Amino acid sequence: MSACLFCRIVAGEIPAQLVAETPEAIAFRDIAPKAPVHILVIPRRHVDSLTVADDAAELGAVAQLAARVAVQEGIATSGYRVVTNVGEDGGQSVGHLHFHVLGGRALGWPPG
Ligand code: 5GP
Ligand code: ZN
Repeated sequence: MSACLFCRIVAGEIPAQLVAETPEAIAFRDIAPKAPVHILVIPRRHVDSLTVADDAAELGAVAQLAARVAVQEGIATSGYRVVTNVGEDGGQSVGHLHFHVLGGRALGWPPG
């Protein structure tokens, strides 16, 4: 059993609403959505954050899955945002690399 929340979701130990998966990555709905569409895309392998992501192919697979999910959710044409929070100032609350895919409404900029 892993202590990492998202590793436990990858392992199926904690339920999640999966929306897509590949050999390298999975995508599932955020438990507390901040927009009509709010999906998290993560590598299956544990990686702490973007800062220490050391596998370009894996990172590419996560980014490509984020784009695929946007198309699948019908927000690719209206527009969407992909963001990864890193560390304390970035607002990262789960220490397993994840890309947020947000859309379905006009998103404010800059972030707070
Ligand atoms: P962060 O704050 O690290 O950028 O993003 C972590 C995200 O994970 C948050 O948006 C939060 O709502 C989501 N989250 C936290 N716990 C769970 C969970 O158990 N299941 C799912 N699906 N999302 C979670
Ligand atoms: Zn993990």
